[in-house]
Amino acid sequence: MRVHNFSAGPATLPEAVLNRIRDDLPDWAGTGMAIMEISHRSREFVALAERAEANLRTLLSIPDHYRVLFMQGGATAQFAAVPLNLCAAGQRADYVVTGTWGQKAVKLGAPYVDVHVAASSQASGFTRIPDRSDWDLSTDAAYVHYTPNETIGGVEYPEIPDVGGVPLIADMSSTILSRPCDVSRFGLIYAGAQKNIGPAGLTLVIVRDDLLDRARRETPSVLHYKTMADAGSMANTPPTFTWYVAGLVFEWLLEMGGLEAIAKLNDAKQAALYTAIDNSSLYSNPVHPPHRSCMNVPFLLEDASLEARFLEQAVAAGLANLKGHRSVGGMRASLYNAMPMAGVEALIDFMQEFERSA
Ligand code: PMP
Repeated sequence: MRVHNFSAGPATLPEAVLNRIRDDLPDWAGTGMAIMEISHRSREFVALAERAEANLRTLLSIPDHYRVLFMQGGATAQFAAVPLNLCAAGQRADYVVTGTWGQKAVKLGAPYVDVHVAASSQASGFTRIPDRSDWDLSTDAAYVHYTPNETIGGVEYPEIPDVGGVPLIADMSSTILSRPCDVSRFGLIYAGAQKNIGPAGLTLVIVRDDLLDRARRETPSVLHYKTMADAGSMANTPPTFTWYVAGLVFEWLLEMGGLEAIAKLNDAKQAALYTAIDNSSLYSNPVHPPHRSCMNVPFLLEDASLEARFLEQAVAAGLANLKGHRSVGGMRASLYNAMPMAGVEALIDFMQEFERSA
């Protein structure tokens, strides 16, 4: 029996997609082979890859002057790939830090670029977005990097920040495809797949044409945007199975009505859960309300000694992976696109029942 899986990633996938994978598994598209058994250069796979990209372009209304790359190495590889591809040695780049992943981007980018932290909400315990008027942006930055949604702290930008003409770079790992997004505001967007896209192993990069060809000589070929773009993301063997599943997820999203429709569902899910938390005296969420995440909802129990019992009873009620990240403790419910409203309702019912009996 399937449970409601609130994991932050790898995360729950739409059941319709899982069923389709099961049906396709032994004999994909009449080839008599499983998708992961065929060449990425085969006509069938190339057609699948192109269809996935076309559907992603439709979903996000990606303008023609942006390239879509299907890469590997996770968002973590992009922490290095972004500076290697976008700036000369010694050049400066601005980073805005609103949580653990922004800190990681700074740390892993620092060997390749003169990192300037233009703003950070560390002093608030990463519970808010620093006011845009307080950002200390450089005049000569190669780009501004930020994390639209911090997966651990549950902090999300309510809007895309205005950074003038400097390319804006976004780590959208945990919020991509959760709602419509004006891609034209960005120089580059990257996202690991294992939340709203598919299984782990694939990293999407959406990059504006004029930023494609600035890489330093020493950039490894698999992280080199122009090399990957010229090769149709097949400079080496791509993660074929993950690409296939991502394609199925894109089809599922289109069938659901696209990102406007999914945003409505996501808004209803998060509103229900935050309301339940705010109306209780046992649970609390520390994030400044306008900056609360739609995708990752961390919450604390007033009496932390109840946590183990909470988690144990949640599992018994069919609610899995509610433990918060080990660095912050507490609980976290991730409400990615594939989490149905019924899962959120089951969680709220459980939380209310637990509070009554606590
Ligand atoms: N950025 C964000 C916002 C994330 O949530 C994660 C993973 N949880 C990462 C980066 C790191 O991604 P990966 O493990 O795919 O390298």
